[in-house]
Amino acid sequence: MSQRSITIVGAGQSGLQLAIGLLAEGYAVRLVSNRTAEEIAGGRVSSSQCMFGQALAHEAALGLDLWPDAPKVEGIAFTVAPPEAPGVKAINWAHPLDRPAQSIDQRVKFPALMEVFTSRGGELVFEDAGVEDLERYTQESELVLVAAGKGEIARLFERDGERSLHDAPQRALALTYVHGMRPREEYSAVNFNLIPGVGEYFTFPALTVSGPCDIRVFEGIPGGPMDSWQGLSPEQHLAKSLDILGAYLPWEAERCTDVRLTDDLGILQGRFAPTVRRPVVTLPSGRTVLGMADVVVLNDPITGQGSNNASKCAASYLQSIVAHGDRPYTPEFQQATFERYWDYAQFVATWTNAMLAPPPEHVLTLLGAAAEIPEIAARFANGFDFPPDFFEWFMDPDSAQRYLGSLQGATSRA
Ligand SMILES: Cc1cc2nc3c(=O)[nH]c(=O)nc-3n(C[C@H](O)[C@H](O)[C@H](O)COP(=O)(O)OP(=O)(O)OC[C@H]3O[C@@H](n4cnc5c(N)ncnc54)[C@H](O)[C@@H]3O)c2cc1C
Repeated sequence: MSQRSITIVGAGQSGLQLAIGLLAEGYAVRLVSNRTAEEIAGGRVSSSQCMFGQALAHEAALGLDLWPDAPKVEGIAFTVAPPEAPGVKAINWAHPLDRPAQSIDQRVKFPALMEVFTSRGGELVFEDAGVEDLERYTQESELVLVAAGKGEIARLFERDGERSLHDAPQRALALTYVHGMRPREEYSAVNFNLIPGVGEYFTFPALTVSGPCDIRVFEGIPGGPMDSWQGLSPEQHLAKSLDILGAYLPWEAERCTDVRLTDDLGILQGRFAPTVRRPVVTLPSGRTVLGMADVVVLNDPITGQGSNNASKCAASYLQSIVAHGDRPYTPEFQQATFERYWDYAQFVATWTNAMLAPPPEHVLTLLGAAAEIPEIAARFANGFDFPPDFFEWFMDPDSAQRYLGSLQGATSRA
């Protein structure tokens, strides 16, 4: 088989991983980035990018586990904090993950992976791709993928009204990267706090450009007290974040008495609507391009799945492309490649959208019982690594009841 040529637009989580995977399989790969490595390294943070076991394993299989000494995220801690009773934990438990998670600031990771890509023979070009560029790539390459995340070019892909639950942002997002936060006592974890009617706050250790840090993510219900981040200076942003913790989550505020921002660009605020898009775009010439990861399935960060999805999408597309051999990359192949990924991603989207809604009774029952029954806490924690499992026991009242019944049966038999 002669060497096949593929162009990928976007050198982020999915584009880099797929590009490096394709090189290893003998493809000629061009990767298009609208930012240089220096611009990314010196730019603003863009995510909290906590990645769990399966996604990390996809990276490791390609030799991309480049930060073995970076802080590990060893567990998940879950707290419900009623806003009318500050200082009260209505639900509170923690459980270790089977395999630790890790967060490498994309300002650290993407430049390093660009270097890996070029050193392994990939062609990296810098341009802000538009429709005319896509036309050119489709003439020069056999397959063109768009892995541009939330970039403007993603708007070429039509929203899929049947597969998208929301058409408006569900949370006002803000995050801060800090040094000086007091570690959790037992083991490191994603500390997830749910403040009913107000929003969510989660925090965990990570590696940034200036070394180990902690990332703090605020998910404010629009129009509520956690939705007021626009136009703040870095100092005001940090002060606002500390005020919120003081008002609703005093145990988290206590961990933050000595924090400082890692850098002035270590803050982010914004909002977007979770959106599923049709994966294949037909260009004016009639040729087609295929979208991947956030371009086609964009979730709210509440469940920390975007980078995990990007990695899993890259792994799934790699398998589809390799299995296709030397046959042409028709629109049917492109659609089928996405559908195979959607077989997984639909569960992540549905679970994530459910976590944005007020928790129904059976969910509160399960999360409350997790404080007494470690099996439930373990299953919830490890679900972040494989969300389809939630559909076996968590997502609807009947399966929740069956699951609780089976655990109680096991306890009474013991
Ligand atoms: C506040 C927040 C917190 C998050 N926390 C987590 C978390 O804890 N865990 C998790 O798994 N996910 C998290 N995410 C989501 C995660 O970061 C993204 O889903 C993931 O990076 C998407 O990967 P991607 O490959 O689709 O796009 P990206 O990684 O965004 O990469 C896209 C790249 O394409 C480039 N690009 C854009 N347009 C063009 C163009 N026209 N031409 C050339 N290049 C272009 C961009 O510059 C960028 O480098 C979070 C997101 C947010 C907003």
